[in-house]
Amino acid sequence: MIGITPQPSTILVVDDTANTRELIATILGTEHKVLTAGDGETALKIAIQEEPDLILLDIRMPGMDGYQLCKLLKADAVTREIPVIFVTAMDEEREEAKGLELGAIDYITKPLSQPILRARVRNHIDLKRQRDQLRRLSAVDGLTGLANRRAFAEALEKEWRGAIRRNASISLLMTDIDDFKQFNDAYGHLAGDEALRRVAKALESAALRPADMVARYGGEEFVILLPDTGANEAALVADRLLLAVRRLAIPHEHSRGWQYVSLSVGLASARPTREANANELLDLADRMLYKAKTGGRNRVVTANLDTPEEPAA
Ligand code: GH3
Ligand code: MG
Ligand code: MG
Repeated sequence: MIGITPQPSTILVVDDTANTRELIATILGTEHKVLTAGDGETALKIAIQEEPDLILLDIRMPGMDGYQLCKLLKADAVTREIPVIFVTAMDEEREEAKGLELGAIDYITKPLSQPILRARVRNHIDLKRQRDQLRRLSAVDGLTGLANRRAFAEALEKEWRGAIRRNASISLLMTDIDDFKQFNDAYGHLAGDEALRRVAKALESAALRPADMVARYGGEEFVILLPDTGANEAALVADRLLLAVRRLAIPHEHSRGWQYVSLSVGLASARPTREANANELLDLADRMLYKAKTGGRNRVVTANLDTPEEPAA
């Protein structure tokens, strides 16, 4: 399956022999951006930093060999999805199974044939791009175009770890549309879908920073993840959310919130530590949402994971 590759892809060539590195770089350099590493440690660093589209990996290297490196690449969330092709001498062919078991996608044997190397690499790059595209699509909610729950869960884990590293705050808003079942019953499911789309847009407009993530958590529930954001700033965002949705002024006669579509919001903030986990933040936001509901809807209730006492409202 040879296709047109839109942007030059990046390939990392790992080989302890300078001649081989240069030969591969020359063959592939006309079509791709080629990075090289002479040993496993350097390769791992480059792989994490540059996230290449493909790695060509020599097996026999002094120090960390190709197998060990492949294992490490497959164990790291950042590099796991990067396809690895082993470049092997003829007499290593018997060991192919071992590399494939470690997660390599293919083998190319030395001496290298230019056309075969080019074609194989091109095929694997195309496949990688298709996989990336599928992953992007499977992270998007079909109705609203927002990130879906799966993508949110990944982002939450990632941002939680990032906040621990940076010793930074993180905030999470869990929101749920008030009396939305009644809305559907009164105005119809299509109108309900349209309202969900408009609320989603309003939420996006209220989360201003590029790192903020708005996701559809489920039916009429949305979550907003705010990295590097403490409780006070997050409270401002929550107020903006409520305001943005009120401004839509979508009539909802049967809402207990008020006569338009409104939101209830549970806000939880934390300064993450290794002792706590991201689900505790999610759980706290969920409990605050419940309080916002029982407290009358169309409001925000806030709590901090680091403070044992949960303030009322
Ligand atoms: P509360 O204020 O306590 O949240 O009441 P509620 O009626 O919003 O809560 P409940 O969880 O009982 O009902 C949620 C409703 O949201 C149920 C369903 O009709 C509606 N809903 C969920 N997903 C969709 C969707 O994709 N489209 C439409 N139109 N409605 C949806
Ligand atoms: Mg609900
Ligand atoms: Mg609801």
